Amino acid sequence: MATNLTGTVALVTGASSGIGAATARQLAEQKASVVLVARRKDRLDDLAAEIEKAGGTALVLEADITDRAQAEAAVQQAVEHFGRLDILVNNAGLMLLGPVVGADVEEWERMIAINLQGLLYTTRAALPHLLKAAENGPRRVADIVNISSIAGRVAWSGYGVYNLTKFGVNGFTESLRQEVTQRHVRVGVLEPGGVDTELGSHNRPEIQGAMINPFYETTEVLSPDDIADGVAYMVTRPRHASVGELWIMPTDQA
Ligand code: NDP
Repeated sequence: MATNLTGTVALVTGASSGIGAATARQLAEQKASVVLVARRKDRLDDLAAEIEKAGGTALVLEADITDRAQAEAAVQQAVEHFGRLDILVNNAGLMLLGPVVGADVEEWERMIAINLQGLLYTTRAALPHLLKAAENGPRRVADIVNISSIAGRVAWSGYGVYNLTKFGVNGFTESLRQEVTQRHVRVGVLEPGGVDTELGSHNRPEIQGAMINPFYETTEVLSPDDIADGVAYMVTRPRHASVGELWIMPTDQA
C-alpha cells in the first residue's frame, strides 16, 4: 500500500524540463510541497504557477548546482522556507556523446560537474535534514532518488564519459544506501532508457545526426511521466520497504 506525501517536502534538481518537471508535478499531486531547482528561472516560475493552480505548493530556487555554494544554498533555503526536507530527487544531468579519441575535454568536464559533483554537493547538504525527517517526520522515513540511466548498467562505444558518470552514480547510490538505510533514509537509483526530453539536444549537430536522431526516429520512447511514475512509486512505499533500483525501458528498446 502506498503512503501519503502530505506534510512532506521534496526537492527536485533539474525541475525546469523533462523528467525533473514531470517528477515535481507528480510529487505535488501526491501532496508533497515541492522545491524546484535549476538555472532557467522562467521555466521554474511557469511550473510553480501550474502546480499552485492545481492546488499544490511550490518554491522556485534558481541555482547552478555544479557550484557547491549554490547547491548548499538551495538546500538551506528549502529548509528555511518549509522547515524540513523529506525527499531529494537528484535528477539534473547532461549527456554529451562522442568518441574519446579527439574528444572535447570541456564536454567531459561539464558532464562530470553536473552528473557527479552536483549530485554529490546536493546530497551532502541534504543528508542531515533527511536523517532528521527520518527520525521525527510524519512518515519517519526519508528518500533520495538518484536518476541514473541504462547507461549506468551497460556501456556503449561513444558513451564513454556519460557511462562513467552514470556507473559512478550507481556505485555511490548503493554505498550510501548501505550507510544510512538503518537510519531509515532510503537511497535508490532509477535507470531510464530513452525518454522524450531535451537531453539529446545539447549535443553537437553531427552527434545528434549520427547518434541521437536515428534512435528517436525509430523507437517509441518513454515520456517524462513514465519516469515520474517510477519516482512516485519509490517514495511512496511503506516505511519498511526500500526500492534500491528501478530500471524502466521503452518496450521498443532492446
Ligand atoms: P533535460 O535536458 O530535459 O533536463 C535536464 C535538467 O537538468 C534541466 O532541468 C536542466 O535545467 C538541469 N540542469 C542541467 N545543468 C544544471 C545545473 N548546472 N544546475 C542545475 N540544473 C541543471 O533532460 P532529462 O529530463 O532527460 O534529464 C534528466 C535526467 O535523466 C538526467 O540525469 C539524465 O542523464 C537522465 N536520463 C535521461 C534519459 C533520456 O533519455 N532523456 C535516459 C536516462 C537517463 P537548467 O538548464 O534550467 O539548469
